[in-house]
Amino acid sequence: MPYMKEHIDSGIIASLGVVLLLVFAYSRGIIPTGYDVFALSLFGVIMIVLGSDLPDIDSRNAPIHKIFQILVPGAIVLISFVMLKLGIMLSLAHGIVALVFYTKLMPSHRQFVHTMRAGLLFGGVVAILLHSVFGSFVLSVWSGLCLSFGYFVHLAKDRWVRI
Ligand SMILES: [Zn+2]
Repeated sequence: MPYMKEHIDSGIIASLGVVLLLVFAYSRGIIPTGYDVFALSLFGVIMIVLGSDLPDIDSRNAPIHKIFQILVPGAIVLISFVMLKLGIMLSLAHGIVALVFYTKLMPSHRQFVHTMRAGLLFGGVVAILLHSVFGSFVLSVWSGLCLSFGYFVHLAKDRWVRI
């Protein structure tokens, strides 16, 4: 049973802890001054909060499942149409195929998607996507790590906290 608010609340608390550690490390000179601590903090918060609810993508009645059911085919249509310049009909067809794959291939609740391996996989995918958009290795790897961390917070809460 998905508990979006509870998972996002725990993600916000975890992300604030990470930002405090980041600012502390920066103030102590552990992080070199060339790094943009504001950008790292912002991406860290967004990724941890996203990761803290992402595992419930495998729950068909969870809001995050429904959001990604629109986002994934939409992204495929955009990539096909804008980047690959495939024409509107072929791009829409790709979106429909993506929707069918997303709906039919999603494992049942609390199977593979609710594992640490999946958290590392999603973190890696996010790092690769962000690197292709922003080109910053540090920001991409940091964001991927933060997404995986938020993911692990969700798994820990599912396992040890009764909500
Ligand atoms: Zn869960």
